[in-house]
Amino acid sequence: MDVYVDKPKCTGCQHCKDVCPVAVFEMHSRADAAKANADNAPEEMKWAGVHDPAVEAKWKDVQDGHKHFAPENDGQSGGISVGINGSACILCQACLIECEGECIHIIDDSGNKYQSIYK
Ligand code: SF4
Ligand code: SF4
Repeated sequence: MDVYVDKPKCTGCQHCKDVCPVAVFEMHSRADAAKANADNAPEEMKWAGVHDPAVEAKWKDVQDGHKHFAPENDGQSGGISVGINGSACILCQACLIECEGECIHIIDDSGNKYQSIYK
């Protein structure tokens, strides 16, 4: 299984890391591009310091107990998600319905593609 995040759309809500039963995701600082881009996201989905404007407009003022687009992770939210351990994914799909940015991509071993859609 290959799991990666469309970085400009990631709000840093940390839902993916919190719900994943097999620790596929890590949260990293947005200031550390090397770590933030350590999964297999294609070039156009890499973190280059710019948020997707539509996702930012949707989430920046939402008060739901999470920080949105904060540069650093504080243990509860902030930073950027990296699909660092995709080989462990069991395709439970929990992350796919919890992802605020609708930015998680999973490709299974047969090449089937899955993308998150916020519940
Ligand atoms: S689908 Fe995979 S990456 Fe997502 S929560 Fe389940 S095991 Fe983790
Ligand atoms: S759930 Fe989606 S938007 Fe939230 S941190 Fe994970 S990848 Fe980013």
